[in-house]
Amino acid sequence: MAIVKVSEILKMADEANTSVIGFNCTDYNMVASVCQAAEITKIPVLVMLYPEHCFKNKTFELESFVGMFNGLAEKCSTPIALHLDHCSDIRYLLRAIKAGFTSVMYDGSNLPLEQNIENTKYVVSVAKEFGVDVEAELGHVGFAANSEQEKLDLYTRPETAKEFCEKTGITSLAVAIGSAHGVYKQTPKLDLERLEQINNATDTFLVLHGGSGIPADQLNIAFRKGINKFNVGTEFFQLYYDTVREFCQTNGDKGSIIDLPIVVQEKLTDYLIEKMQLSKF
Ligand SMILES: [Zn+2]
Repeated sequence: MAIVKVSEILKMADEANTSVIGFNCTDYNMVASVCQAAEITKIPVLVMLYPEHCFKNKTFELESFVGMFNGLAEKCSTPIALHLDHCSDIRYLLRAIKAGFTSVMYDGSNLPLEQNIENTKYVVSVAKEFGVDVEAELGHVGFAANSEQEKLDLYTRPETAKEFCEKTGITSLAVAIGSAHGVYKQTPKLDLERLEQINNATDTFLVLHGGSGIPADQLNIAFRKGINKFNVGTEFFQLYYDTVREFCQTNGDKGSIIDLPIVVQEKLTDYLIEKMQLSKF
């Protein structure tokens, strides 16, 4: 069984001067495909759950997601870990820890700095008791649709990053350096100089959000300059949707829901195998 803690994989990534990729998943097909791709490539990987997909859509519960992940991932021989993505509700975050998440992201990036530090510190103190890793965010990774990746005043400042990491004791820090969530209107340009300054200012693992649509050459440099975790959601979801649509269009009335997971998992696994080559473990 190769279910490990996120921090173990981050350490491996740091030593290899690369980044692990975390994929947002919402169901069995997605988690099964990530496990399958890890088995084939032997590249460590993360499964992430964005809590809103649970509590807003109400189609599954946190606890059942953990059960599903464990059932699938324990058969993997490649290191694989589970992480709770952006959570600003501390009560929900504690529920996730109780449910078995060994890594959580507390997102206080919308709060004033002092409040973000205070809340993050509290989450770290509780998480530590359970041996759980904590990611936090400083600066603000916004939404591509609002062109928020271009708002320089939302970018992470190196000196504040140093203070934030020292005061909170987090495992990893999500930085705002020009990426954003969702579909970019134009090709993003990461502030790699700022990344280097942040990396020099702190010993904490650094995380890049909004990974769909960033050109590979920029990512390769970002991984060498200190990014050890990289989040991908949008393009993975889009591929899933496109695959289902194509399946329905191709098969028309003759299509069967029983055959759909086979097609979906094949397509997602192929994508993951290729995407995971960005990780140079
Ligand atoms: Zn994010």
